[in-house]
This record gives sequence, structure tokens and C-alpha cells, in this order.
Amino acid sequence: MSSKPLPQLPKLNHPDEAIERICGLLPRLSVEKVEQRDALGRVLAESIQTDRPSPPLDVSAMDGFAFRLNELNSKLMFVSGTSQAGHPAPTLVPGQAVRIFTGAPVPTGADVVVKREDTDEQADRFELKVEASSLRVGQNIRRCGENAAVGSEVLAVGTEIGPAQMVAIATFASSQICVYRRARVAIINTGDELIEGGSPALPHQIRDSNGPLLESLVRKRAWLQLTSRSRVADRYEALRSHIEQLLKENDALLLTGGVSMGDTDHVPNVLRDLGAAIVFHKLPIRPGKPILGAVGPQGQAILGLPGNPVSVAATALRIAFPVLKHLSGFGSILPAMLPATLVDPDQKSIPLHWYRPVQFCRDSTSGTFQVRLTPNLGSGDVVALSASDAFVEIPLNESTHQGPWNCFRLE
Ligand code: AMP
Ligand code: MG
Repeated sequence: MSSKPLPQLPKLNHPDEAIERICGLLPRLSVEKVEQRDALGRVLAESIQTDRPSPPLDVSAMDGFAFRLNELNSKLMFVSGTSQAGHPAPTLVPGQAVRIFTGAPVPTGADVVVKREDTDEQADRFELKVEASSLRVGQNIRRCGENAAVGSEVLAVGTEIGPAQMVAIATFASSQICVYRRARVAIINTGDELIEGGSPALPHQIRDSNGPLLESLVRKRAWLQLTSRSRVADRYEALRSHIEQLLKENDALLLTGGVSMGDTDHVPNVLRDLGAAIVFHKLPIRPGKPILGAVGPQGQAILGLPGNPVSVAATALRIAFPVLKHLSGFGSILPAMLPATLVDPDQKSIPLHWYRPVQFCRDSTSGTFQVRLTPNLGSGDVVALSASDAFVEIPLNESTHQGPWNCFRLE
């Protein structure tokens, strides 16, 4: 076992400093092309621009009649022709109207659509039921390019492709989309005490919940690829050979446990001895203070999260996933923060950035986003964690007043 002293690391005052520092040392992954339908959940590596105006021509927003407003002399107008979606518009006969349906092209020369409900219609004519003076040029017409001109950027590089983004991709992009390669991620849970969930446990054993927690977080993110989840005992040699192998096959390792000061906390030494550069070890946060971030010999991201389950949840979401987002090409990597008001502020403060588990208040009537502190007994309280929806971030030395606080979801 190695006994060299660990090098001194600069003191970091905020988790964002740690994220920034490690990301500065990690290259982004390479890119690949995927079919549009496989782009869901991936991260764009190209900017998507409109290849035609949106809408591509003047179309009707209503079912009704299209004509030239200054040709309306009485309330009666004859109708010749129909314009339907998916067909070119008919020619507008001077002084007459065209029957038109939603999404159909507006004939050249027509400058108003009067909606069907405002007319009495017959096969070859309609009569206006509203005052002619109430009609306006352009009414009920969606103008060519009013949503966006040709060549406008609609999705930027680094955007995660969700259902809304699929709309823009389907509308404007070519059949294959350039996205960042999925980061290959391995989860390693260390600890002699760990056994698989669902198995009978002796009193000194603990069912591994960090593994399943991280696995579910990784699997929810289509831009990540889980390559393996494994448990390792607290033995230097076993941990070293296991990590050495996994470094060969992955872009990122998520470890839990074994990063504190205990005699069996081998993770820092193993990483250092394998040639990883430790970027930070210990941050002024609770829970999760002993967290470690390192860069592997081939530029892999390595996050050593302290073993307590609440620490794992908080540090994974607040620190580890932002680092993985950087690798994966995201334009914005920090957790999405919702401003949340605490309904039960307890005025407690600690000299650390404090991640306090909270529950959403389903009964909120005020319209603002409200949360309540989950009663908990600290970072080992799996019961409180299981009942929580999110964390609020109480900055160092601030008392836990009602906020609003930055709040990030446990998902
Ligand atoms: P460590 O950071 O290795 O000292 O772990 C701290 C504590 O977290 C352990 O004593 C366990 O009670 C708990 N723990 C560690 N790993 C896990 C795990 N994978 N699942 C559930 N609890 C864990
Ligand atoms: Mg341990």
C-alpha cells in the first residue's frame, strides 16, 4: 500500500469553483451523427438553423374566407376556389374570395381572412355577420417568416434535446444530427459493509443504495451511457486493480465511499498511484465535505463521493453531474435552480454551504414554489432522503430563513 503524502491542494471556497477547476482540465467528448429519432436526450454539437422561413409561406390561422380587403364593397362576396393545407393556393379572382382552411396557403393578392363563424355561408358566396370596418389587413394570416427568417439559429450548440427541441429538429434539420458522443460512465461503490439490495443482511451489513441511486440518475440521462455498476471491498489492491481496469473503458468514474480520513479510505491513494491528478479533495459543503475530484491519466473525469447516502445525492446532483455535463458538451452545466420559499424556516446556519433536503408542498395555494424541510438526522438518513424531492442550498453562514432559496430537484 502506498504511503506517500498527498500533495497540497488549493483551498476552494465554493462548489462552483471546484466544478470550474476540474472542467478546465477535462476535454469535451468527440461528436457523432445520429438519425433524428435517436437524437432525443442527446446534446447538440451543431447549431440548428432554419433552412426555410417559418412559416414557409403566408398561411391562414383560421377556417374562413380569404380576399383582398379593399375589394369588399358590401357585406356579400362570391367565392371561387378553395385553399387547403398541403396544396398550392388557387388564383384569387378579382373581387371574389377563396374558401380557406387552417394552415392553408393564402392566395397571392388576398390580405385578410375572415373566420367562418363571422359569416353566413352558402356554396358560392358568404355574407359578413360582423361590421366590415372591424376587419383589418393581415387579420388571421400567419405571415411567411413571422416565426423566424431563413438562416435563423433555433437551437444552439450544447442544447439538450428534449421533446420541445425535437420540434425544431423535425421542422428544420437534416435527417442526421451532430451530437456529442455519450459519456461512458462506471459506478463503483466501495465498502466492506455493502451487499446487494434485496438480499438478507447481517446486522453489520448495509444494502447498497448509493449504487442504485446513481444508476437511476445516470439512466435518466440519455446523454450518458452506464457501462457498469460494481461494489468493491475496502482493500487497496482490490480497489486499485478494479479502478485501473475501469479507467481503460470509461470517460468518467463515479465512486462512492472511501474518500474520508479513515484507515480503510483508499480511494485518494489509489487514484494518485494510478496517475490521476487530484484536483480537489474536501469542499466547504454539508453533506459531502470529503468529496474528491480528479482527472484520470487519459483525461477521464473521476468523482469520489462520500459514502453517506444524502451526501451522494447532494454531491452527485450539485457537483458530479455538472462535470459530466461539461464532458458531454452542455452549454450550461450547473443544476437548474428553482427559487423556492421555505414554509418552515428554522433559522439554523452552519459555516458551510448547506444542502438541506426538502419536500414540495403539494397544498401550496399561493402560486409561488414552496418547500418544507424534510425532518432528517443527517447524511445517513436514507428514510428522509427517500421522502425528499429536492435540496435547498443555504450559503455558508446564512441562517435558514424563508428564502427564496436556490433549490435543485432530486432527479
Ligand atoms: P464512507 O464514506 O465510506 O466512510 O461511508 C460512510 C457511510 O455511508 C458508511 O458507513 C455507510 O453507512 C454508508 N454507505 C457507504 N456506502 C454506501 C452505499 N453504497 N449504500 C448505502 N450506504 C452506504
Ligand atoms: Mg466506506
